[in-house]
Amino acid sequence: MELWQQMIRDSVHTVDQLVDKFNLDRSVAQQLDEFFQARINPYYLSLIRQPGDPIWLQCVPDRLELEDIDGFEDPLNEDEMSPVPNITHRYPDRCLFLVTSQCGMYCRFCTRKRKVGDSDKISMKQLESAFRYIEKHSEIRDVILSGGDPLMLTDYLLERILNRLRKIPHVEIIRLGTKMPVVLPQRITPKLVEMIKKYHPIWVNTHFNHPWEITPESTKACAMLVDAGCPVNNQAVLMRGVNDDPVVMKELMLKLLKIRVRPYYLFMADETKGASHFRTTLDKGIDIMDHLRGHISGLAIPHFVIDAPGGGGKIPILPEYVLHKDDEKIILRNYKHQNYIYREAKTDEVKTKQTEGKAPENKKNGNGNGKKEKQLQDIETIKVTELQINEN
Ligand code: SF4
Repeated sequence: MELWQQMIRDSVHTVDQLVDKFNLDRSVAQQLDEFFQARINPYYLSLIRQPGDPIWLQCVPDRLELEDIDGFEDPLNEDEMSPVPNITHRYPDRCLFLVTSQCGMYCRFCTRKRKVGDSDKISMKQLESAFRYIEKHSEIRDVILSGGDPLMLTDYLLERILNRLRKIPHVEIIRLGTKMPVVLPQRITPKLVEMIKKYHPIWVNTHFNHPWEITPESTKACAMLVDAGCPVNNQAVLMRGVNDDPVVMKELMLKLLKIRVRPYYLFMADETKGASHFRTTLDKGIDIMDHLRGHISGLAIPHFVIDAPGGGGKIPILPEYVLHKDDEKIILRNYKHQNYIYREAKTDEVKTKQTEGKAPENKKNGNGNGKKEKQLQDIETIKVTELQINEN
């Protein structure tokens, strides 16, 4: 047995352990166990600094989960968009392929609780119909292995899946959606990365939510994946009490860049049953994005999105940077809340009206530089110190 497998075995997961370690009332612990079982491996447990801290909140069952009456079992409508077992096909050229129900740690905010935990929630026996679906659908050029966590499979089983996918000519990219670098970095072994290397291009999407998760162990795991040629991107979720603070989020994004992980998405929390207590307001998310953009490198700025309820896909949200727009100008504000005018390019219709009976200005110059000067003027932004905006 490998170290990571032993660590899974040594996880906190029984009702007795929940009562002993976290001082939960036994009947509450029992109900929480039935609702969504716990799995906290010794590595992730060691990151907790005090009760109720951002690590604790993500992994320790909480009675608030039982009080949530608003959330949905399948907020993203993944099951409706599943043409065959184990496949969700929402976007035209890519699909989600669920290969296991197991994870290195069970996150209390998980959107896929209905699929995660019990081994019979996602059957390995049904993988064949999923492979056949991908083979038949030549528009699928990107397959995202998920679950559960695909790195819960043994190297042998994962290789069988990668090998089979690589035989499908239209599958260009394979992505591993894995939280293992964050919750159980010991899973990223030299043997695993040597195997993965054979099936490039393999991209990795991981899921750091708080700077405390960036440790020597997780740094090493990400470095091994990147050194093996896997670009690693991060998908964080905005959660109350965990990372709904501009200072925390900035620290997280900057630390990710340092370990060569690209911040990719920041999600508003889904409307998942048992996880409403993690949700924040949209204004809070916009305020955090406003504190990132311009203040730190663009490389560290994730796309801030809402995964639309009902399966509408990811919808980007931006702070309001365009204050006004008409046919002639756009009034913008920058990250310091200073205002600027960008002159709108002329449409063909406007150009025709303006040039009727009039020689184009650049011809007057007669030196061939007029056009270039005009283009430069068109892209020039003019700082406005005292700007009056007529909202009408
Ligand atoms: S690792 Fe992903 S699938 Fe597994 S419990 Fe956490 S959020 Fe859910």
